Amino acid sequence: MLNLVLFGPPGAGKGTQSQKLIEKYNLVHLSTGDILRSEITNGTELGLEAKKLMDQGVLVPDAVVIGMISNKLDSNKDARGFIFDGFPRTVAQAEALDALLASKSTQISGMIALDVEDEELQKRLLLRGKDSGRPDDANPEVIRRRIEEYNNKTAPVANFYKDQGKYHSVNGLGSIDEIFSAICNVADTL
Ligand code: AMP
Repeated sequence: MLNLVLFGPPGAGKGTQSQKLIEKYNLVHLSTGDILRSEITNGTELGLEAKKLMDQGVLVPDAVVIGMISNKLDSNKDARGFIFDGFPRTVAQAEALDALLASKSTQISGMIALDVEDEELQKRLLLRGKDSGRPDDANPEVIRRRIEEYNNKTAPVANFYKDQGKYHSVNGLGSIDEIFSAICNVADTL
């Protein structure tokens, strides 16, 4: 199996690159942000609770997203591999993911981190907010909070994979195709 963690701050281009990767490598895309937004659209209780936190730009509890990922792994038993996009976002989530995959006799093949500086992220997110319709992309204060959450809670996840020798970094500035080709160069070695 090829199990990739696509890592990077909000606005780094994880969603765009995931779409291209699932096609090329025939993988299942697991984006906790997308799953949460579909819970909101469906008006579930989980969605209603998560929305309050998402609209403020803070992370939802670990147990909620770990449970969602566990369900998705169970419902995609025949997958050739997964792209984890926006997950794990805390070290506790990374530990839980390792345990879930180990229980299925598989593991993370590698983390690919998209490297983009804060100022560029702010610009991209505000621009995306114009057509994404996402409330958390529309407000500069919420964007600032999301980047802060990333720096405080999510950035340490990179060290978790560095310690396992699974961390790879790719320049997240450039054209979509240039970045994709740099990601593929790493994925092809895993
Ligand atoms: P995203 O679409 O990945 O930018 O996620 C949008 C929002 O969903 C985040 O700002 C968080 O509030 C929430 N979220 C998504 N994935 C996670 C996760 N793995 N852990 C905690 N919160 C998450």
